[in-house]
Amino acid sequence: MKKVLLTIAGFDPSSGAGLSLDLKVFSRFGCYGLAIPTALTIQNSYRVYDYKALSPRLIVETYRRLKTDFKISGLKIGMTGSPRVLTAVKTILADNQGRPVVVDPVFRSSSGRWLLDKNHLASYLKVLAGRMTLFTPNLEEASLLLGRKINQIKQMEKAAREINQLVQAPCLLKGGHLQDQVIDLLDDGQETTVIPKQKLPVNVHGTGCFLSSAILCFLVKGYSLSVACQQASLTVDKFLKSPLTISRRPLFDL
Ligand code: PLP
Repeated sequence: MKKVLLTIAGFDPSSGAGLSLDLKVFSRFGCYGLAIPTALTIQNSYRVYDYKALSPRLIVETYRRLKTDFKISGLKIGMTGSPRVLTAVKTILADNQGRPVVVDPVFRSSSGRWLLDKNHLASYLKVLAGRMTLFTPNLEEASLLLGRKINQIKQMEKAAREINQLVQAPCLLKGGHLQDQVIDLLDDGQETTVIPKQKLPVNVHGTGCFLSSAILCFLVKGYSLSVACQQASLTVDKFLKSPLTISRRPLFDL
């Protein structure tokens, strides 16, 4: 039977990132996607201008109605946007113990707009720590979490281990912004797995959203965490090679 996945994420009207991209990824991987928006953003393919977080009541009530109708196999959490939204996320996660939860920490857009107030980082971690199957920060998010610059391959193993301890969950540290050789590094608390990547001269909108949603699809299909990360990474690399060029910034052709 088709697996039903739920994304709880921001709405990007360009459909290049966030909730609408997650739905496309779920569908592409043979899953059925449900979506609860946490925030509406004003953005196009290359820049986030503003956003408005939605009310926790709206989020929890939507979840309540969906849950009476669908059997959810896994969850993806993207942009949360406000501490009030986090209270809703907390309620929903408490109701989904034992199901895979992949969290992409969407702290800042690549155009530089903060999507979570830095002052709310502590409450973000408090709500999510220990409740995730996988946490997928990039180097900038890792730097913010650890309070020091992480921008070199040799710093990644220690950083992933520290984030793993901080969030009490496996951490996939994404090295897409490394200068020369690019890797992602998975620390599951016991082992580290290095995932070599190709450095491609493209900056496609929504790369982080694509990867985290694809990992969730592989997890609910029964793959181990490290294989799910590797397979999803290969898939994203494949799609990065032939992006859509209908907008100022390339988009995934899904
Ligand atoms: N908007 C939403 C809703 C997102 O989830 C994200 C990233 O996850 C972004 C914007 C930023 O995307 P990018 O960094 O590709 O510009």
